[in-house]
Amino acid sequence: MQDPFSDAIDIFEEASKYSDAPGWFIDLLKQPERIIQLRFPLEKDDGKIVPMSGYRVQYNNILGPYKGGIRYHPKVNLSEVKALSFWMMIKNAVCNVPFGGGKGGIEVNPKELSEAELERLTRGFAQKIFPNIGPEIDVPAPDVNTNPQVMEWITDEYRKKLKSQSANGKIDENYIKAVVTGKPLEQGGSEGRTEATGLGGFLVLQSCLNCIELRQKATIAIQGFGNVGSYFAKFASEAGFKIMAVSDSKTGLIDQSGNGGLDIEKIIGFKQKGKSFSDLDLEGVQKISNEDLLELEVDILVPAALEGVINKDNALNIRAGVILELANGPTTKQADKILEEKQVLIIPDVLANSGGVTVSYFEWFQNMHGEHWTVEEVRGKLKEKMETAFKEVWEIAEKKKISLRLAAYVVALNRLASKLS
Ligand code: GLU
Repeated sequence: MQDPFSDAIDIFEEASKYSDAPGWFIDLLKQPERIIQLRFPLEKDDGKIVPMSGYRVQYNNILGPYKGGIRYHPKVNLSEVKALSFWMMIKNAVCNVPFGGGKGGIEVNPKELSEAELERLTRGFAQKIFPNIGPEIDVPAPDVNTNPQVMEWITDEYRKKLKSQSANGKIDENYIKAVVTGKPLEQGGSEGRTEATGLGGFLVLQSCLNCIELRQKATIAIQGFGNVGSYFAKFASEAGFKIMAVSDSKTGLIDQSGNGGLDIEKIIGFKQKGKSFSDLDLEGVQKISNEDLLELEVDILVPAALEGVINKDNALNIRAGVILELANGPTTKQADKILEEKQVLIIPDVLANSGGVTVSYFEWFQNMHGEHWTVEEVRGKLKEKMETAFKEVWEIAEKKKISLRLAAYVVALNRLASKLS
């Protein structure tokens, strides 16, 4: 079975050959600093109590507090969370935010829980993780199947616990809010955070297209239509790219109308009603499987769901010339090699999807300083960060003649190592 963490470390090892970081430091970074495994009860609506398992891996905090999302998914496991926390360490260093790497997850299918159960699950998790999180310790955020509401429940539990421990019960409210990012706007969230990962990915893609010979109005297929995939689709289609296919966890949609792409606005409107693509009937649009979507003949393929979807079994069949990784770890190590031989250009996850944590940093900063930035300010700063990160990675790739993934790891490793002196 594929082990995402050992794959990630193999690639890291390869990248380390192109960095001047000392050997002991590279060895140190091959394992996380701390693994927290949690077990706690969840009371179901029918009164039954079931044990739940969760994890938080604090990879390291060389650059600042541990930072990364929390996901709810039935397949969450330690190897996956370790890999995800490692990628957060790399990602935060690539986009140059003052955070270390962390990630968490609960092994659960949230689609089988009621809203009340989801709230009790989150509050139970937050109570258990309380000693290990804080604005200057570890700052969680949304990830797969978690959202601003989940972040608000965590903040509330954190507030209660912190207040119960303080001598006079008075703690700065802005400071409390900085314990997580991706909060609802009215609870201290940042303008522009919701769309940040999709927009950041779009900005990175544009920077990349300026460096290669690909039509600016290229065709795109997107796998995954959650927060990240749908916002990316919106920005790309508004800019004139042709979105030929999209998919959710069950079904894909492909444009057969000959009109140059799907009507993304309409599809987003449909999704906002909480429905599945399998229930959507649009003229000139046909259904397609998730597997087939990945193999379509488009210019740009955007995996925006889960890890490992591009692997040794389908890598040879990929026909896109560019892959923009908006999911974390969508391409396995073996597929990476095959695609490199096929000269497919991969814009790696740790660069492509770093817009989310970048605006998380802006949110944390605003909370810590009691500020509120406009959406224009946030987007302007995001653009600057994304363009700088892309440029740094691209230049190393050119100079050392290595892939963008290896180059991103080198940028990260050099930034981490710069803290040694
Ligand atoms: N879950 C997102 C990621 O994988 C965002 C993390 C954050 O904002 O801390 O990058």
